[in-house]
Amino acid sequence: MSKNSKGMVYLVGAGPGDPELITLKGMRLLQQADCVVYDALADAALLAHCSPDCEKIYVGKRAGNHALPQEQINELLVTCAAKHAVTVRLKGGDPYVFGRGSEEALALLAGGVSFELVPGITSAIAGPAAIGVPLTHRGLSAQFTVFTGHEMPGKVESDLDIAAIAASGGTKVILMGMSRLRSTLQALQEAGMSPDTPAAVVQWATTARQRWVCAQMGTLADEVEAAGISSPAVVVIGDVVNLHKQLNVGSVRPLSGKRIAITRTREQASALASQLRHLGAEILELPTIRIAPPSDRKDFAAAVVDSPHYDWLIFSSPNGVKKFFEAFFAVYEDIRELGGARIAAVGLGTAAELKKYGLMVDVMPQKAVAEELIAEFDRKGDEFGGVANVTMLWVHSEKGRDVVYKELMKRQAIVDECIAYNTVPETEDPTGARAVLAAGGADIITFTSSSTVKNFMALNIPLPEGCKIASIGPVTSATLREYGLEPDVESEMHNIDDFVQTILSFVNREHA
Ligand code: SAH
Repeated sequence: MSKNSKGMVYLVGAGPGDPELITLKGMRLLQQADCVVYDALADAALLAHCSPDCEKIYVGKRAGNHALPQEQINELLVTCAAKHAVTVRLKGGDPYVFGRGSEEALALLAGGVSFELVPGITSAIAGPAAIGVPLTHRGLSAQFTVFTGHEMPGKVESDLDIAAIAASGGTKVILMGMSRLRSTLQALQEAGMSPDTPAAVVQWATTARQRWVCAQMGTLADEVEAAGISSPAVVVIGDVVNLHKQLNVGSVRPLSGKRIAITRTREQASALASQLRHLGAEILELPTIRIAPPSDRKDFAAAVVDSPHYDWLIFSSPNGVKKFFEAFFAVYEDIRELGGARIAAVGLGTAAELKKYGLMVDVMPQKAVAEELIAEFDRKGDEFGGVANVTMLWVHSEKGRDVVYKELMKRQAIVDECIAYNTVPETEDPTGARAVLAAGGADIITFTSSSTVKNFMALNIPLPEGCKIASIGPVTSATLREYGLEPDVESEMHNIDDFVQTILSFVNREHA
């Protein structure tokens, strides 16, 4: 950006916790952002939508550290706008509901910076809803009041009129209410509310860590204490809480309460992460590797240029397909330039990636390992006239094994290699997942390739005690064993769907 021009700051509501509860507009801005300023309530998984070179600035509380004071956040936003075209200030829930978003907006205006507000779903509504409590219901509640529980009831300078709140009908919702829960409930009762009024508290609503208690106003504080529930939590009071019994569907899911660490690349983690999240797991994205260009880019380019001349193309991984076709379409415009080569693939994921280009696979082993591909060629090769003297281009990663090459050469095929990418250790950890793993552990850690194992080991993060190890298949398991780790779970088919199902049955077995 030029020195005098100023960028835009978007105050974006991240939603209550579940990373899917952000608006489409918020998500698009995250994808476009040059800089994101975020704090603890916005789920770190949202940052996976940002481009790799987006600057990510954490201003929330972190183990032992205080959050950045509000004035400094305000100043920081003005500075970001001077440096970046698009800055996203990501805030939990809705920025204008107890989020100090409006203070930031005023500071931006004062600093001469343009801003736009992108609303989010507030926890005041989504929190109760997550446990089956609607804020209004015909015949039960025709209004709701949302207030902060942070102010001392009865305090002279307080903006809160507890007596008026107590006297008003309908549903009451308290945010930031945990530290003074007992005295706030007491004050409402002294102002005339019945101790029998149904009341509930939900902590970490809409996330995998969600917990709640339902009680009555008179007993809620004791129940919350007994359950060990603390901030961040929403308190909801009123007859609508009774609907919880019928409407609380879907808040307990098969992997609820399980924390699962994912070690694959940021780009690849999403499919696995979202499936496990839908099953209720809390996900720690711990990327250990990143996809980088191959060491010899010229060789790669030359192989892609020559690719139309082969009888067979063999793809060993989805990444290989992606990188190959990125390069292919940089040179050729039309997929038909590829000619009539037959295609072999290892793994359903690889076949799925090929299908995106309208390409079907001629040979694919049942099990996604190189040896099985060779066996499949041995079984089915004759259908295609055998492999001897046939030209083949093998698209794979720099660090892969050379089984395919060696075995096909043994069978007199003429094999060339196309090294499409390299996997390198991921050095960035913007979401702080490594610290979370070290401090709080995980129930399961997943490995989806040998390189995720090697790179995880290189990070020197001790495996948390009691953490189970899930491996996507036999080759990954063999690498784990090289490091003295025995997988507790191994999937058979070497693809994400099967892996998720295998993890699910493992967890069910453990609970049985
Ligand atoms: N702007 C936010 C509120 C920020 S104030 C919003 O609209 O949701 C912080 C308070 O929000 C917390 O003390 C808690 O009361 C509530 N909160 C935010 N996220 C929550 C969640 N996932 N579960 C329960 N309470 C939450």
